[in-house]
Amino acid sequence: MKLFLVIPCYNEEEVLPETARRLKEKFASLMADGHIAEDSRIVFVDDGSRDRTWELIEELHRSDPLYRGIRLSRNRGHQNALLAGLMTVREECDAAISMDADLQDDINAIDAMLEKYAQGYDVVYGVRSSRKKDSFFKRTTAQGFYRVMKAMGVETVYNHADYRLMSRRALAGLAEFREVNLFLRGIVPLVGFRSTTVAYERGERFAGTSKYPLKKMLSFAFEGITSLSVKPIRLIASLGVLIFAVSVGMLIYSLIRHLLGHTVSGWTSLAVSIWALGGIQLLAIGTIGEYIGKIYLETKHRPVYLVSDYLTDGDRPTK
Ligand code: UDP
Ligand code: MG
Repeated sequence: MKLFLVIPCYNEEEVLPETARRLKEKFASLMADGHIAEDSRIVFVDDGSRDRTWELIEELHRSDPLYRGIRLSRNRGHQNALLAGLMTVREECDAAISMDADLQDDINAIDAMLEKYAQGYDVVYGVRSSRKKDSFFKRTTAQGFYRVMKAMGVETVYNHADYRLMSRRALAGLAEFREVNLFLRGIVPLVGFRSTTVAYERGERFAGTSKYPLKKMLSFAFEGITSLSVKPIRLIASLGVLIFAVSVGMLIYSLIRHLLGHTVSGWTSLAVSIWALGGIQLLAIGTIGEYIGKIYLETKHRPVYLVSDYLTDGDRPTK
């Protein structure tokens, strides 16, 4: 089984040598036990780093063919770097595992992932068993993130970052998704195939600083929602319906007030039209939005289906 490890790196000079060393050890033991083939590789994707990351990758590659490097023309962000790596290697490997350069993802979970792969799973999600080692801030923002995503109708795997194994055919399926607003964590579940999870303990970054400040996290969450869900548009339409219902109530209320003579002249028509028009406008925007949502989904050119198995004549046992 030929395994490729894909690791996006952005300004990771502080962690790269240690990461490379530990992964090499891990690979050596996996090879010795016959779990992975000798020509398995560790692929670093340099996401337009401004420090010595690429020089280090070059050095590693010279020192041992185990290491490979891919360099992006400029910084494109974690998700794009990851995709670049996976798509570059997908036809060479039986399965690829993506993980972070800072070893926060426990590399010993690889064994369990390989085991699941051997059992026939195409996608194995690494899921954090606890967030004890994350800062309070990171933990609460991350949990809020999963909640909002869920409320917005985006299917994600709870507590799963981008540490996952994907088989060759799952990667081929992923390649069919040609959208440019890419949110991998939401798309991989859409790819389908048999999937399962493996729990691991999330460690601390052993050196360097997080490349995901709050600003990037917020835009990441926003990207996730707007690239996978048209629910916000629907919310506007629902609000329109609600306000319109209020306007009917207002109509009845104002008419009663009018008939009882408790109103100044002109108030009834004004009050009713404000509510009715507001409701109608929101409904109209929501309706237009619904069509824009359709256009939006069309422009993504997502695959309508992916075939998992096809039993043909040749597969039948011959007597
Ligand atoms: N990363 C990247 N491009 C970016 C930002 C981050 O390739 O623009 C990589 C980074 O090198 C690391 C991974 O994405 O391998 C996760 O980043 P980090 O560990 O800083 O995020 P955190 O663990 O704090 O969420
Ligand atoms: Mg990290």
